[in-house]
Amino acid sequence: MAVQPPAADRRTVIENVAIATVDARDTEYARGHVVLLGNTIESVGDGPAPAWLENVARRINGEGHLLTPGLVNTHHHFYQWITRGLAQDSILFDWLVALYPTWARIDEDLVHAATQGSAAALLKSGCTTASDHHYVFPRGGGDVLGASVAGVQELGLRFTALRGSMDRGQKDGGLPPDHAVEDTDEILAASESAVDKWHDASFGSMLQVAVAPCSPFSVSTELMRQSAELARRKGVRLHTHGSETAEEEEFCKQLFGMGPTDYFESTGWLGEDVWMAHCVHMNDSDIAKFAETGTGVAHCPSSNARLAAGTARVPDMLKAGVPVGLGVDGTASNESGELGTELRNALLINRLHGRPDALTVRQALRLGTMGGARVLGRQREIGSIEPGKLADLALWKVDGVLHSSIADPVAALVLGALPPLAALFVNGNAVVENGRLTTADEDRIALAAARAARDLAARG
Ligand SMILES: [Zn+2]
Repeated sequence: MAVQPPAADRRTVIENVAIATVDARDTEYARGHVVLLGNTIESVGDGPAPAWLENVARRINGEGHLLTPGLVNTHHHFYQWITRGLAQDSILFDWLVALYPTWARIDEDLVHAATQGSAAALLKSGCTTASDHHYVFPRGGGDVLGASVAGVQELGLRFTALRGSMDRGQKDGGLPPDHAVEDTDEILAASESAVDKWHDASFGSMLQVAVAPCSPFSVSTELMRQSAELARRKGVRLHTHGSETAEEEEFCKQLFGMGPTDYFESTGWLGEDVWMAHCVHMNDSDIAKFAETGTGVAHCPSSNARLAAGTARVPDMLKAGVPVGLGVDGTASNESGELGTELRNALLINRLHGRPDALTVRQALRLGTMGGARVLGRQREIGSIEPGKLADLALWKVDGVLHSSIADPVAALVLGALPPLAALFVNGNAVVENGRLTTADEDRIALAAARAARDLAARG
């Protein structure tokens, strides 16, 4: 069952709280208030909330806390929750080759358990909107995309399901084993029916769908072209992995006679309706093309470090005007699964090249909120605390032993340990309270995920 929004006339007031709105002017309040009405933000401002408010169902004293927009995750593979901690010291291609055979044995029950583990880790680290790039559809595995949609809806996360795909197996020069790929026409038909079944384009939508062939080394050129055509015909967004590693760049040059960005351009894959994961190996011309076309980037710093892929040029992208959001990436290459900690990792990794101002703490918070909202095409609905936007908010406790000595609450959130999450609101519902999920039993999720991981390992 999907979590229902609160009654439209019901108010929640949060006051005496530090607020980072992440609006266009980066407005902050040292001691302000926010009023939620139903599933939207009614007002935000300095000082206490107006005394005349009616229908206040809940009043939260935010003393010692920081209120931010809920974080937005732009790239993930939820099913990987049950294949964590494997191929620990491999680069991407070796890691994929090691894991494909295991992934090819997943089914809908395992994906449901894995999805709830991944979604729980996101919610517990401040994430209110997530996308999940699912591209493994074993024959006989049942409705794995449906299992991930159901798993997310039960926990109350705002969601974009990405109907992924692979049709370039080893016999066609691709990386995945032939038994792990699907037929091109079947993929296109299944992608279209996923859009028809689930995509809700309305304001405040809790569920959207995008078309998402996996990567240049696992997808045919024909599928890239036809996926772009399908998505544009249906009015949905496009997502894929791009420019992740030096090996991928070499693969593209050998097979297509050009680098990944030029290849994407040649297949109709640059545009405001497209975002790509990683974008590590980009030259100035590639960045300029992304900026000119409004193509978005899902920056995944921890995963890029885990697989020794390199560092995306995020400061240069931001300077050029490229939309950039943050992504956890699949939890087989970022076992923490937390989005909140990616704020810190993005800042640290982008400073490794000797620029202390490469990313500021506020830029890092913006990447994780408004940046992600823009990448998912939802900047009018989420990503900042402004009247009329959806009530997706994270309330961080910053007066505890780990943070109380940091005067700037945004620095406490980004530079310090990830603070305890006092509450997380999605669509006006408090889906996390005092660090625990309110919509499901965490112990049950943990048990189901452990059982699924053992079950999958035993199938090998
Ligand atoms: Zn990925």
